[in-house]
Amino acid sequence: MQSVRNQVKRPKFIFVTGGVMSGLGKGVITSSTAKLLQLSGLKVSCVKIDPYVNCDAGTMNPIAHGEVFVTNDGGECDMDLGNYERFLDIALSKDHNLTTGRVYLDVIRAEREGKYLGQCVQIIPHVTNAIKNHLLKIAKVDNLDIVVVECGGTVGDIESLPFLEALRQLELEIGHSNTLFIHVTLAPILDVVGEQKTKPTQHSVQELRRIGIQPDILAVRCRTKLTSEARRKISLFASIEEGSVISCHDAPSIYKVPELLESQGMLNVITEKLTLENGTLKWLNWKTIAKSFYTNEGTLKIAIVGKYVSLPDSYVSVYHALSHAAASIGRKVEIDWIESEQLENPTNSSRLHQLRNYDGILAPGGFGKRGSGGIMNAANFARKENIPYLGICFGFQLAIVAVLRNLCLIENASSTELDPDTKDPVIEFLPEQKSTTELGGTMRLGSHEINIMPKTMALRIYRNNRIFRRHRHRYEFNQKYKDVLLSKGVALSAFSDNGKRLEIFEIPNHKFYFASQYHSEFSSRPGKPEKSFVGFVRAASIKS
Ligand code: GLN
Repeated sequence: MQSVRNQVKRPKFIFVTGGVMSGLGKGVITSSTAKLLQLSGLKVSCVKIDPYVNCDAGTMNPIAHGEVFVTNDGGECDMDLGNYERFLDIALSKDHNLTTGRVYLDVIRAEREGKYLGQCVQIIPHVTNAIKNHLLKIAKVDNLDIVVVECGGTVGDIESLPFLEALRQLELEIGHSNTLFIHVTLAPILDVVGEQKTKPTQHSVQELRRIGIQPDILAVRCRTKLTSEARRKISLFASIEEGSVISCHDAPSIYKVPELLESQGMLNVITEKLTLENGTLKWLNWKTIAKSFYTNEGTLKIAIVGKYVSLPDSYVSVYHALSHAAASIGRKVEIDWIESEQLENPTNSSRLHQLRNYDGILAPGGFGKRGSGGIMNAANFARKENIPYLGICFGFQLAIVAVLRNLCLIENASSTELDPDTKDPVIEFLPEQKSTTELGGTMRLGSHEINIMPKTMALRIYRNNRIFRRHRHRYEFNQKYKDVLLSKGVALSAFSDNGKRLEIFEIPNHKFYFASQYHSEFSSRPGKPEKSFVGFVRAASIKS
C-alpha cells in the first residue's frame, strides 16, 4: 500500500487525455485518481477542460451534451464536475470548468483593454498562456498539492490542440517531476477473434506523441481484465513500462474504480513520477460505501418522467442522487425513463395509467412547453393514486400548476413559460428576469439559503430550519395563489429571500409528495445522500 505527501508546497499536475473515442469514462478515471490522492492525505482538486467554443454549458441542449451541472457560485458547467464533487466530497467553483469560449473571452477582453499593446495576439503564446495561467491560478487560490486536469474530447480533435499544447508547455516549464500524463484508451474485443485488440491504443499514443506528449500511464478501458499479452504489447509499442499500463475493466460500481486502480499499483507509479513523499493511504469508509452500491438487495422501481430522457446523461446527477439514497437504505434502483410527451393524452390503458406499476415517480428539471402536459399529468396521477412523488424545479412548478388546476379547480392555471398570456399565471417570470435580454448565465443560479417552516415534512426530513441548495431557473411560484393552495391543505414548507420565493411544497396525508424549486440532486454524495431523496426512496420502499 502506498501513499503520498507533497513536501514542498509546489502544485503538481496530472493531465488526463482521451484517445480512440469518447464515452470511455475519462471522468470516472480522473475522479478516481484524485480520490486515491485525497485518501493519501493530499489536497487535491479537479479541473475539466472542454474544447468547445461555448463559454459554458448553460446554453447547450442536454440531449446532445448531457446535464448542465450547477456549482455553488452559479456556474453552469460540464457534468463531469458532478463526478469530481461526488467522489471528492468537495464543492467546486465555476473556474474548475475551462472552455475555449471562456479562454478566448478572457484573451479578447485583455486585448481590448490594451494589455497586449503593440503585439499581434496569437494562439501561441497568448491563448496557451491564458490556459496555463488559469490552471496555475486554481492551484494557488485553493492552495492545492495536486490538480487533476481532464482534457475533454479525443486526441486528434482540432479544437483541443491549443489546450494540449498548453499542457505540453506547462510540463516543460514546471518540470517533469511536477507533471504526469494519463492517457485513457480502449482495448476492444472483436467478437470473431475474441481477443483484446491493442492497435487503437497504439495509434492513439502515436497521435499524442506527434504533438509532443509522452504519456506516463495508460488507463485502458476494456470489458474484462486486460490480458498479460495485451499489456505487454501496449507497453512495448507505447514505450511505457508494463506496470504503468492499467487495466480499467468494467467494475460493479463507479465508486469501486479507485480500488481497481490501486490494486494495480497506480499510486506507486504516481508517487515515483511526481517524487511525492511516501505516506499512508487510508481508505476510511470508502470501500464500505463503494460496496453498498452492489451488495444491496431489493429493487425500487422508479419512473423518471422528463423531457430529455432519450439521453439519461441529461439527468445524471438525479440518477446518482437516487442511487446514493437507495444504497443508504440497502436498495437498488431500477429506473424507467419516460418521455413526458407520451403521457399527454391519457386513456385508461395509456402509459399514464401504467405509472401504477412504479414505487415512485420523479419529475426532474426542464424547459419549455413540449411535454409539459405529460409532466403535469404524472404529477396529478401520483397525487391521486398516492404514489410517492419527488418534483425538482420544472417538476415542482408543474406539480403546482397541476394542483391548482385539478384540486383548486382553477382551470386556466399555468406557467407563463408555457402560456405567456395565461389568465392565471401561478408560475411566472422572476421579477429580475424581466429586464434580462441575454440568455447565457442569466438565470437565478447557484446556492441560496432556504428557510424551512415549522411542523412540516421538510423539517422532519432535513432536521434543520436552514439549508443551502443550488438553483437554476427563470420562473417561480406567484404568491398571489398562496391562500388558495393553503385552503386545500397543501403545505408551503420552505421559502428563500426573506419569504419572497417558495422553495418547497408538499401534500400532507400522502405517502410522500414533495417538490422543490431548488435542485436537490447536486448536493448528494455517495454515503451522504441528499435527504429529500432519502425521504422519497424510503416512502417508495414501503409496500402498501
Ligand atoms: N423552466 C423552468 C424555469 O426556468 C424550470 C427550470 C429547471 O427545471 N431547471 O424556471
